[in-house]
Amino acid sequence: MTLKYIPKYYWIAASVLLAVVVALVSCYLPESDLPGYPHATNKNALGNAKLITNVRILLDTTESVDFYSSGLLEIRQLESRWPNARTSAVLATLPGGVTYKIKNSAGQWIIADSHKPQSNIIAHSQHIEISPLSDNTISYSTANRKRSAYRGSMRLFAKAGPKFYVVNALDMEDYLLGVVSSESYSSWNMPTLRAQAIIARTYALYQRFCDNAHYKWDMQATQASQAYGGIAKETSRASQAVRETAGIVLAFGEPGQEKLFPTYYSAICGGHTQDASAVFNENLTPLKGVPCPYCKSIAPAGRYQWKTVSISKKVASQRIIQRYPSLAGLGQINQIEIESIANSGRLESVKLYGSTGRTANLKASELRLAITTAENPVLSSWYKLTDDGKNWIFSNGRGWGHGVGLCQWGSQQMAIMGKNSVQILNHYYPEATLIKAY
Ligand SMILES: [Zn+2]
Repeated sequence: MTLKYIPKYYWIAASVLLAVVVALVSCYLPESDLPGYPHATNKNALGNAKLITNVRILLDTTESVDFYSSGLLEIRQLESRWPNARTSAVLATLPGGVTYKIKNSAGQWIIADSHKPQSNIIAHSQHIEISPLSDNTISYSTANRKRSAYRGSMRLFAKAGPKFYVVNALDMEDYLLGVVSSESYSSWNMPTLRAQAIIARTYALYQRFCDNAHYKWDMQATQASQAYGGIAKETSRASQAVRETAGIVLAFGEPGQEKLFPTYYSAICGGHTQDASAVFNENLTPLKGVPCPYCKSIAPAGRYQWKTVSISKKVASQRIIQRYPSLAGLGQINQIEIESIANSGRLESVKLYGSTGRTANLKASELRLAITTAENPVLSSWYKLTDDGKNWIFSNGRGWGHGVGLCQWGSQQMAIMGKNSVQILNHYYPEATLIKAY
């Protein structure tokens, strides 16, 4: 999940959103999993649900990409304008069964047919969209990424120089097929997968309509937003969970006035989930943090409680300033003082003391993201911090991830204990309501 501010367009977006989410039809009840859950009944703006058609996922930044489709590919001009990009003129229609290599040079797109290397197609447009016309499937690869199939279309946004962004634009429910399977184990119980599908949908819709930080895409394909692996990652059980909860989201507010909220989640909370205000500046009742007695018994070794990590002050200082260049004025950071600790036990904020005599405050979650590495994993902000003069020592570590919202391993344990997806969501997002947005 990303650390994002709420842009000034929030209220405009939120009002559109409100029109969508308060328009409620009867709540779809897959099996006996969502029985009689209270839901709002205002149907006034149901027509706005058709606004929710697609989602845009940043896959890559690259200089060259190969595309393949078994059927025809259509290339259209793409007009990039706030808040969404629109397609217009058709620039080319290409036969299927061929790999096309696309580069951007001097502001034009060069499309090379692997079988006809001498006959490049030139597309004059700053941005383009490539859409499969037959089966809604397009494969793509780069020098660093092996070929993988995605639903929907691909948008290429030129940057300065030869590099460009690769963005997958696709139907929201199609997107979720590649998210639930990437974020959960498909062997997990169906209530767990259904709960994951609902919060992944809610999070995505929130990003789509409430958080226009990037106008070319809504989310990244990694855990910076939600992990998304395209068709290659899809599984029948995860897809079943998406279909059974189609259109259902979590919302919060007075009946009839519910709003979407960012349904954060993380792997293992360590025994208590975190107040979102300490991590994401969100002050919402469903995200205040709750006890979680569930993940302890099921968490993989070394994840509920993690082993002590020692990082030299010199290295940690470099990592912090590399990630937050505005802190360079501190010089070398010599001391980290704990400013506040959450009820959950996690550190919330710290004060940094630099060699230049300057100080700075940092969220504990920001500190963690700066200093953690694969070799020295600081898995959460829940630890005891000590200082031996040369090193900072992170001991008694608990949990894996930011800890806000649903605890994924805890939710699986709840399902094993017989809880349904409504009970799981009620536990981790108190006072939130399930509604059918479309
Ligand atoms: Zn937990």
